[in-house]
Amino acid sequence: MIKKMKKGYPILEINLSSIYQNASIIIEKAKRQGISIDGVTKVTLGDPKVAEVLIKAGVRGISDSRIENIKRMRKLKTEFTFIRLPSFSEIKEIVNYADITLNSELNILRELENFAQKMRKKHKVIIMVEMGDLREGIWDKKELEKVIKEVLNMKNIELVGIGTNFTCFGGVIPTQEKLIEFSELVENLERKFSINFSLISGGNSSSIPLLFKEEIPKKINHLRIGEAIMLGRDTAYRDPIPGGRRDTFRILAEIIELKEKPSVPWGVINEDAFGHKPVFKNRGIRKRALLNIGRQDIDTKGLFPEIPDIEILGANSDYLVVDLGEHTEIKLGDIIGFYLNYSSLLQAFTSPFVKKIYKEVNS
Ligand SMILES: *Cc1c(COP(=O)(O)O)cnc(C)c1O
Repeated sequence: MIKKMKKGYPILEINLSSIYQNASIIIEKAKRQGISIDGVTKVTLGDPKVAEVLIKAGVRGISDSRIENIKRMRKLKTEFTFIRLPSFSEIKEIVNYADITLNSELNILRELENFAQKMRKKHKVIIMVEMGDLREGIWDKKELEKVIKEVLNMKNIELVGIGTNFTCFGGVIPTQEKLIEFSELVENLERKFSINFSLISGGNSSSIPLLFKEEIPKKINHLRIGEAIMLGRDTAYRDPIPGGRRDTFRILAEIIELKEKPSVPWGVINEDAFGHKPVFKNRGIRKRALLNIGRQDIDTKGLFPEIPDIEILGANSDYLVVDLGEHTEIKLGDIIGFYLNYSSLLQAFTSPFVKKIYKEVNS
């Protein structure tokens, strides 16, 4: 049984030692192959305690997609990379708070140079290359060379790397062939411009299977890893990380109604509050609970009850409706725990209603 807290639910439990363990395993595995890891904190809303644990585990730096998140973590001693493409409207903040940005637009790079000069700062950039997933990156080889040529002449911009991204829009998996293609492109650019990129950033958590099979081409020396650390699994096949932990986050909610009710609604049926026409199976009278967690807190489709044989029937803004099955021991006021997928975790962190508690490392 879960110990009751006075804080009010829902509560997101953040298990810092499990996060530390996942990060350490990945960092060690990568290190032996000459690959450094940036810990990606965006799913945690840039949580400084999580970032601190990643730094302790040995990440090269912290990457996040929101400048507000980087601001929250800025006091930590590490290098911060802004991994969403910069916007004109945020350039000043970005140059101020991020050490490195990922880029694909020459006009944005010019603006970064402008602001970096004004602020008398050096700003580092990684140029993103499109390899087929069709999110960010330069696809056209001529454009890529033009951008690199101009960036190399910028005074306050330092070209530190070249990167690519997979499995975020098109669902394209970074196979070894894809990464070899990327490596060859990088080698050609290095030869053409007589330069060496210090960061050759070959992807995210979807590259974890290749990392563990030690099949990442030698040229690639950097990965940006979020989900594999936070949820202990890769994003290409959703397999667990060998030796990793899946109990990194758990969300707790309280039962605020518990009654036996029919399993099918009665009356004239039309759409529910979210415009869907619900379908019900008649299973007779069931023991059913309402929990104080809903769509304002999590993605209900990405919630997995910790107790076996209880079933989530549905949810709206404020309630989760659960079938308790044969669990006669569960009472009104009890706390039920759930594990979360990435989407649900993201929502839990961004919801102002979800309180956070930490299980510290070594506690
Ligand atoms: C989110 C993101 C990552 C991390 O992705 P995970 O799948 O969580 O490892 C890496 N790179 C970029 C550009 C991202 O936006």
